[in-house]
Amino acid sequence: MARIDVTGLTAHGCRDLLAGGDASAVELTRAYLDRIAAVDGSVQAYLTVDEEGALSAAAAVDAKPRRERLPWEGVPIALKDILCVKGMETTCASRILKGYVPPYDATVIAKLRAAGLVFLGKLNMDEFAMGSSTENSAFQTTRNPWDLDRVPGGSSGGSAACVAAAEAPWALGSDTGGSIRQPASLCGVVGLKPTYGAVSRYGLVAFASSLDQIGPLTHDVRDAAALLDLIAGRDPRDSTSTGLRGPAGVPARAGLEGLRFGVIKEYLGDACEQGVLEVFESAVKTVGALGGVCDEVSLPSVERGVAAYYLIAPSEASSNLARYDGVRYGYRHAPSEDLYDMYVRTRSEGFGAEVKRRIMIGTYALSAGYYDAYYAQAQRTRTLIIQDFTAAFQRFDYLISPTSPTVAFKLGERIADPLAMYLSDLCTIPVNLAALPAVSIPAGFAAGLPVGLQIIGPHFSEPGMLDAAYALERRLKVDTVAPLAAGPGVSSAEGER
Ligand code: GLN
Repeated sequence: MARIDVTGLTAHGCRDLLAGGDASAVELTRAYLDRIAAVDGSVQAYLTVDEEGALSAAAAVDAKPRRERLPWEGVPIALKDILCVKGMETTCASRILKGYVPPYDATVIAKLRAAGLVFLGKLNMDEFAMGSSTENSAFQTTRNPWDLDRVPGGSSGGSAACVAAAEAPWALGSDTGGSIRQPASLCGVVGLKPTYGAVSRYGLVAFASSLDQIGPLTHDVRDAAALLDLIAGRDPRDSTSTGLRGPAGVPARAGLEGLRFGVIKEYLGDACEQGVLEVFESAVKTVGALGGVCDEVSLPSVERGVAAYYLIAPSEASSNLARYDGVRYGYRHAPSEDLYDMYVRTRSEGFGAEVKRRIMIGTYALSAGYYDAYYAQAQRTRTLIIQDFTAAFQRFDYLISPTSPTVAFKLGERIADPLAMYLSDLCTIPVNLAALPAVSIPAGFAAGLPVGLQIIGPHFSEPGMLDAAYALERRLKVDTVAPLAAGPGVSSAEGER
């Protein structure tokens, strides 16, 4: 068996290796475990690596005759630590859940398990998915594989960094205001937030339930479509889930003829830094070169998206996070004087600063006397944003914008300034407020750092949206393997025969 070079290997590539008999599932899994051992000391994407579980799942695949295997059986994947995996510690990067081992699988995990995927481990994130840099993790600081002094974005920073560093062929993340797309943009990989309802959230630890969605982070659009099809579907355990209207299938579109793209005006000008705008403008030209028609469109209410989001999301979080009281699971302060003392100390010690800030904002915004001025007003703004998108989709098939207003920033640069951090999601938040699908694809580089392009579609337009993204990806030809990952292939002791 030749050494398996996992750098640049897509999930489709893994599937081909397995199908062609060029690698066993154990060899493939071992190659990723070796890669993790080689680079995760510097990237720090993983909170948990389940070497034993992964190798035994892979061995079970190898024990089956190849013709009896399902298409993705034996392909490894890594998971944001916000997804409940039976028997695997799930912390949401919070001290309050340290040591929590779920007794059940999230629906997406059960689906991947049934499809035969191999779980490599759990990935770092901002605590309870609150943040845009992964610096709010209680446990470690994940670094951007393109520049180890910079953040990977967040909150799915572990997922994006892990894919960019070839520590897994693909990964799952979650997106409440941009947490899949923004880190995908900063780490130069593909990140897809599906339509609200496309994917069940059962077993996804809740942050803001009217906004949360699970989605893929991958090297390319075809992998994103395949992973979406593996996880999407209606689930009686999540009453908001509807599934997709049809499979995303295999994107194959060559050109963009006949498609109209609206360029969101509010994100041009001062909203984004110069290097990002230059890459974006060149991507707009590429859309034109492929036969797509681009025109500017104004969505005036999106400028109020961040303000509305930072009332709605904390309000929902303040309610969702009330369950962490030290009584049933997770961290508990002990000994305590009485029940009240136990609650206070458990929550004071268990939650980090950003989570506490959100709980306080949310509790305030929902309190009697302030509800109308804050929460209800934010909901009215949300309606205006939805109306702006509805109007835009009368004229355009898809809307495009930069994914993030800046490239990856330096570690520590924004951590003391919550408002600067919140603005990282300027271009992504309105999409969640309107429950729309959007994908970020690598569009180029500014000063050596990745820049993502965001494509937003109407509800349940994933198949067409990914088809368009695929055509663009093929033309843009952006490298998705970080220089860190560009070294020689990782050899596997068991792979050498
Ligand atoms: N960065 C945003 C926040 O801090 C979005 C997070 C997310 O999508 N989970 O809330």
